[in-house]
Amino acid sequence: MAASDEIIILKEVKYKDNDKILHCFSRKRGKIQIMAKNSRKTNSRNLSLTQTLSHISADLYRGKGMYSLSDGEVLNSFYSLKNDYEGFVYSSYVLEILNHVLQENENYSKIFDMTVKLFTMLSESVENIEVLVAAYEIKLVSILGYKPWLDSCISCGSEEGKYAFSIPEGGLVCGDCREKGKNYAYMNKGDVDCLKILLMSKFEDLGKVDVCSKKILKLAGLYFRYHIGKNNFKSLKLLGGNGNV
Ligand SMILES: [Zn+2]
Repeated sequence: MAASDEIIILKEVKYKDNDKILHCFSRKRGKIQIMAKNSRKTNSRNLSLTQTLSHISADLYRGKGMYSLSDGEVLNSFYSLKNDYEGFVYSSYVLEILNHVLQENENYSKIFDMTVKLFTMLSESVENIEVLVAAYEIKLVSILGYKPWLDSCISCGSEEGKYAFSIPEGGLVCGDCREKGKNYAYMNKGDVDCLKILLMSKFEDLGKVDVCSKKILKLAGLYFRYHIGKNNFKSLKLLGGNGNV
């Protein structure tokens, strides 16, 4: 029996003469692989269904060890993102992230919906792309269990004094609790507020936000990559270094 699901295609791998194996993010099933038979034939109706980045609804059959695609519908191909250099690089970065953090047989509906929202916003306008991607990083790392502590000193709870942010400790550290030899990012109140905005605001409300300094956008990316345990992303190398995310 076919089971329906929503899917984002993370990666296409050619298989035999006419087939593809799709590495996918399934809304109900987490990271899965799908065999798309005959999807490389030029007249295939599966051709448009099986492209990287596409958000599709799919009817899946479970074969031996792998799902196969029996039918489906493209919900959004995010075509404009594939044809804009920055849009392409940052959306490739998000696909690489998902490929790294997702596990099989887990329900990630919250992360799925957030990813569709991000791609939809980016495909409509790539304005403010660095703010949106930094917000995605901070929201995602929080869902994964590493929500940054931004209300007081993470060590003693003090709400006084000048803060610095510790990436490994995951939050603000006051002057009394800072240790020599450790790295901190020094923060003013505006910097802390900016991190809170990235964490709490809906993507729709971040499309025009320009209060975030480059320093904070960069910190969001460093924090994210430290806690997911991966710093080496092919897509970010295209930006030269790690860009601002
Ligand atoms: Zn303290």
